[in-house]
Amino acid sequence: MKKYGIMGGTFDPIHYGHLVIANEVLSKYELDKIIFVPTGNPPHKSSAGLTTSYHRYMMTQFATMTHPYFDVSDYEVNQEGISYTVDTVKEFHKKYSDTKFYFITGTDAVLDLPNWKDTEVILDICTFIAVNRPGYVNNRLEEKILDIEKKYHGEIFIVNAPQLQISSTDIRRRIYMDRPIKYLLPETVEQYILKNNLYKDDEPL
Ligand code: ATP
Ligand code: MG
Repeated sequence: MKKYGIMGGTFDPIHYGHLVIANEVLSKYELDKIIFVPTGNPPHKSSAGLTTSYHRYMMTQFATMTHPYFDVSDYEVNQEGISYTVDTVKEFHKKYSDTKFYFITGTDAVLDLPNWKDTEVILDICTFIAVNRPGYVNNRLEEKILDIEKKYHGEIFIVNAPQLQISSTDIRRRIYMDRPIKYLLPETVEQYILKNNLYKDDEPL
């Protein structure tokens, strides 16, 4: 049986916080590959102010292309309208037979799981790997995760990875304010942002 990781996100832009947790989970769980899935029109975020899915998809490609076991899926960016995680994992489940799926999130995102569409179906298809995210320390994290596991009959593991206090929001803000973003994200992504003049003129939300 194959083991695939799924790493969903808006990736607006993708940064080393995303890449380091994906790589850590790949190694700790001996996964065959990680599929990065940039969202199309995410239900959890207002799409106002979100960079076009084309640019977010391209940046995700540039960030992952030197890693032999990182892939990028265009499934959500090609969907019309709102894309839900449940539809994506159902699609992967159908497409890749004999495969166990591990959905990777930060600890901020995992606690939001009850607000996702069809949480129980998602947890039926995927084991969740919640990675500690600095700045989102939660003293009752284990307890809250246990509650979600019980309520939706799922499996969620908490994993430690090198903690990088990097967020896309902070990167967008830095670009707007002419502050450095070097060493927060791959150079290819930085160059792509500069070349396409991203985040320069939009006051961050
Ligand atoms: P934004 O600030 O726009 O919300 P973000 O940095 O949170 O961006 P997302 O695309 O929202 O990035 O996150 C995708 C996934 O990566 C989420 O599960 C999130 O918890 C996780 N993640 C993002 N940054 C980190 C980080 N520095 N450490 C651990 N997990 C992270
Ligand atoms: Mg986020």
